[in-house]
Amino acid sequence: MNRIDIAPPLPPSDWHASEACSVLAALDAGPHGLDGAELARRQALHGLNRLAEERPPGALARMARQFNNLLLYVLMAAALVTALLGHWIDTVVIAAVVLVNAVIGFVQEGKAEKSLQAIRHLLAPRALVLRGGHPEEVDASQLVPGDVVLLASGDSVPADVRLLQARNLRVDESALTGESVPVEKSPEPVARDAVLGDRSCMAYAGTMVTQGWAQAVVVATGSRTEVGRIGRLMQRVAPGSTPLLRKLDRVGRLLTAVILVAAALLFGFGTWMRGLPAGEMFMAAVGLAVAAIPEGLPAILTIALAIGVQRMARRHAVVRRLPAVETLGSVTVICSDKTGTLTRNEMTVQQLVCEGRTFDVAGAGYAPVGGFSEGGRPIDGEELASQAPTVLRMAQVGALCNDASLHEADGGWQLAGDPTEGALLTLAMKAGLQPAALRAAHPRVDVVPFESEQRYMATLHPSGDASVVLVKGAPERVLSMCALQAGPGGVTQPLDAPWWHAQVDAQARAGRRILALAQRELPTAGRLAREHVAQDLVLLGLVGIIDPPRAEAVRAVAQCRDAGIRVLMITGDHAVTAAAIAAQLGMGEPGALEAISGPRLEAMDEAALREAVSRVRVFARASPEHKLRLVRALQANGEIVAMTGDGVNDAPALKQADVGVAMGRKGTEAARQAGAVVLADDNFASIAHAVEEGRTVYDNIRKTITFLLPVNGGESLTLLLAVLLGVSLPILPAQVLWVNMVSSVALAMVLAFEPTEPDVMRRPPRPPGEPLLSRFLAWRILFISTLFLAGIFGMYECVLLRGGSIEAARTAAVNTLVCMEVFYLFSVRYLTSRSFTWVGVRGTPRVLVAVGAVFVLQLLFTFAPVMQGLFRTEALPPALGLQIVGVGMTLLILLEAEKYLLRRLRLLGGARA
Ligand code: ATP
Repeated sequence: MNRIDIAPPLPPSDWHASEACSVLAALDAGPHGLDGAELARRQALHGLNRLAEERPPGALARMARQFNNLLLYVLMAAALVTALLGHWIDTVVIAAVVLVNAVIGFVQEGKAEKSLQAIRHLLAPRALVLRGGHPEEVDASQLVPGDVVLLASGDSVPADVRLLQARNLRVDESALTGESVPVEKSPEPVARDAVLGDRSCMAYAGTMVTQGWAQAVVVATGSRTEVGRIGRLMQRVAPGSTPLLRKLDRVGRLLTAVILVAAALLFGFGTWMRGLPAGEMFMAAVGLAVAAIPEGLPAILTIALAIGVQRMARRHAVVRRLPAVETLGSVTVICSDKTGTLTRNEMTVQQLVCEGRTFDVAGAGYAPVGGFSEGGRPIDGEELASQAPTVLRMAQVGALCNDASLHEADGGWQLAGDPTEGALLTLAMKAGLQPAALRAAHPRVDVVPFESEQRYMATLHPSGDASVVLVKGAPERVLSMCALQAGPGGVTQPLDAPWWHAQVDAQARAGRRILALAQRELPTAGRLAREHVAQDLVLLGLVGIIDPPRAEAVRAVAQCRDAGIRVLMITGDHAVTAAAIAAQLGMGEPGALEAISGPRLEAMDEAALREAVSRVRVFARASPEHKLRLVRALQANGEIVAMTGDGVNDAPALKQADVGVAMGRKGTEAARQAGAVVLADDNFASIAHAVEEGRTVYDNIRKTITFLLPVNGGESLTLLLAVLLGVSLPILPAQVLWVNMVSSVALAMVLAFEPTEPDVMRRPPRPPGEPLLSRFLAWRILFISTLFLAGIFGMYECVLLRGGSIEAARTAAVNTLVCMEVFYLFSVRYLTSRSFTWVGVRGTPRVLVAVGAVFVLQLLFTFAPVMQGLFRTEALPPALGLQIVGVGMTLLILLEAEKYLLRRLRLLGGARA
């Protein structure tokens, strides 16, 4: 029986006014968190810690939205007028087309929405919770009242919580209260009537920890949280359009308007100048409007973007903001963290420097296998204890001034916590220590947590009546706080700073990450203050840690170089270490790689910085503010910047960058929310892949447009020419619609799914301001429109000359158009390179299916009696079919000849496509 069932919990308004212990009691919880059975019971009782999703618009609303489009208004008006004129068949066809278009849009929009939905779970916030006393990372939706959570800077608060312990805790509550300055928090209860913003012992779901650390108990989850009550959704994949889509939308509207005017002029010209019957001219005008507008384009573009998002997600880059898909394709500089992104983040201590000696540590990874040696001579535990006591002391300090834990599972050693600290635990075990027992024997009474800005961590432990401070951190930082050192035999002596600096340099040159360990006895017990660690520490020694580069990052850096993208390393690590790792990654010649570190960067003015970022590849000891300055300097140089980040203070740089890339694993919630892209695996290679996919999407969009526009161009030119010449229309409006809505869409859809072209990462980045329709494409569209015109009109006249009926001539013209489209599809798949390759001719399964489908549809269009009735078509003799295919092939040959010529010219003249 559980007390929570009988004792009603405190009313929510009381959590902040009660002592932490009574809150725990009321929730029937303890400071060590809940255990399995109780957890399951509460999860069943309270449900998931999730806000009700905003309901997506219903199917009917979505369907209705499909008709809300200028083009469809034009078509519906046309249907109405044709009905009034008694052209019933046309009315039915146009109405059917409107309907088909809406259905296609409806289905595609659904698909795009689904693919976004599918990646939402990847962005679900996580929480660090105590389960049976052990910290465990879980999906924040699993939390229940009574759970004890740990909060650190950068976390978003996963539920409404009452603080149990806190240290320097500051929380940004702007999302809830609108107050933009982070507020200080501590566990002391406040007045019962305190308003939300003044309840300093509470932290609320959706707000963000900007500094410090806390332990807190969950008091409300899901819709019972404050934010749930307001009913606002905090975590969303930002939907929406991209600059490119918006631009296209504007162009589309303009185009529609121009076409309507042109159609009206055509109508006027035909009726008054040529004296043609108004009904026929109206149909010609409708035909022109229908012919000139690429009806299928918007739907296909949406699909192309959604596919890009999906492909990127498959390659571990989750897109949170749609425009990033497009921007990724034009990135010119990638600024990347080092640790974990370019390197493996599997840290192993390799060397210890202390007592004037250097010790090697064998082994790799977190398994505590490997011994100590000096100059190649193995040293056992006993000798260490008697001859080099500082090594053991360093192992102890490393294990105590440490928040990580290692445990054996699945045949390997699993780390919970920071890898740098994991390496120190392994070191302690190699020295024969048991970290858990050590921690029990020397409990921690206070802590200054590690923050990237401070670059050190300190803990306070009782030692008899007095206490001892243990410090570990970046060597320059710790050295500046030391006055003494542990000399031979562990005897304290004055600090020989120059010697240590030389040692730091030697470690860094070998590409090792360095930590300095120090301690200080304090005469009193009590709390830890900054002045306790600011000076007079005794330096124990240095720890040299290796963190090998990721093999795939080495490849990705090379790939980026080929793709004309510069990779910059921006790291919190030591300059010399960073340069050594950069050389291992192939970012430059060893020894020739310049690294600029934080203090030097600070001294630079904007002009100097702009010059530096155009030349230097490694920025070390960099803080989040430096990142922001670097992004701005790069952007001022005209670069399109992708910047990675993981800390809470990286958010401004992530937002400033053209593409902010947040780390999904080690990244804080703050960074993840600021990023446009979240890397599911924290791997640099995934950024390179995302760029590749971004370029592919852009290519495919360009291909789709290049494919569709000439078809419309050819159709419109045909109709215009017919009216100008005063001959009857070679293609009827209904037939034009058939081509645009059925054949063209089926074929163009293939292009949205096109695989990446092999040379996509060997081209330079697309210039940012480059118009979608380059001069080359504009020429292409004109050229091919003319070829389409020649094909359609030629075949039409040919059939008429041979004495065929006008229906047969029109059927032949439509089939010629579609056949030319099919061959053009093969050409457009490779915009500038050769299509006459085995791979090109074979196509992809999707291409073959689409071509097969279009073939069957055209057979139906030509031979099925229903279609003959609807579209006024007529069966054609097989010989004519062959001629039509011949026309299509001629088109392909002409296009290939043109590509060949242009390639030659480009080689000679160096002009860009
Ligand atoms: P990146 O920015 O590429 O991720 P980084 O991980 O090396 O680089 P930080 O985490 O800011 O950057 O670390 C900076 C320095 O602080 C390290 O070089 C190391 O000397 C020290 N350091 C790192 N982790 C700890 C820790 N847990 N405790 C104490 N000092 C640390």
